Amino acid sequence: MTRYRIGIDVGGTKTELAVLSPDGAIDYRQRIDTPEPYLDKLAAIETLIERAEAALGISATVGLGIPGVVSPATGLVKNANSLSLNGYAMDRDLAQRLGREVRIENDANCFALSEAADGAAAGYGVVFGVILGTGCGSGLVAHGRVHQGPHRVAGEWGHNPLPWMKPDEYPGEMCWCGQRGCLENFVAGPALARDCDGPGARDASALPARALAGDQAAIAALERHADRLARGLAQVINLLDPDAIVLGGGLSNMDHLYEVLPRLIPRNVFSDTIATPILRNKHGDSSGVRGAAWLWPA
Ligand SMILES: [Zn+2]
Repeated sequence: MTRYRIGIDVGGTKTELAVLSPDGAIDYRQRIDTPEPYLDKLAAIETLIERAEAALGISATVGLGIPGVVSPATGLVKNANSLSLNGYAMDRDLAQRLGREVRIENDANCFALSEAADGAAAGYGVVFGVILGTGCGSGLVAHGRVHQGPHRVAGEWGHNPLPWMKPDEYPGEMCWCGQRGCLENFVAGPALARDCDGPGARDASALPARALAGDQAAIAALERHADRLARGLAQVINLLDPDAIVLGGGLSNMDHLYEVLPRLIPRNVFSDTIATPILRNKHGDSSGVRGAAWLWPA
């Protein structure tokens, strides 16, 4: 089908629009500061879409990626912890302004969809995508479509507890979600930084270079981190046995993960052979807009 697709990634500070041509190339791109309050956001997104379609002389499908989910009980956005989106029916409000259907999806699900559609996991049937950034989001795509589940929590791996906890890991920190010991507080960037440099640390990006230079604290923290991530992913494989796992977010730039994880994961997988590919994302920061656009598959 010769369909143009618009994907919009609504972030806490930036909102980005991209138009995918029918062959999946990005034909047009715009980025703005995310306005407040909610009604200004809607108006800005509507203007972005009108400008894009006028510039290209096309009409496109519209998909939205948001850092939250639409509650199946209320039809309203929930769990968007950094944005004035909660409590609004953003897809329906925008659809009313545009006069056409708008699809909406959690941004981690958009990441998994983007990588499964034409990214690092293209050609794999069941794809588990994990964003390891300031938090830990993840999503599940099966045969080209996001698997949402009836409560839209499918793939919310980061708020399960770290599996096979060791005595010095138990019970884990309190999480913003209300539970204790969540994976997010062991494997996301700020958790790694805290584990290495103490409670005030948040940025783990310098750790690989420090480890290479012989910094023993950094070496030990990266080893603990990879070990915990491997245990968490082994549990995903035991439950879903996906065809591929794709990593995104800032920590996905740590080269050692792609060598260490395939070695560590089999310890906890209930199978004599394990060859699940652990892939580095292909589309990087573009995954948000690309995945939102792919909410309208061929
Ligand atoms: Zn949690």
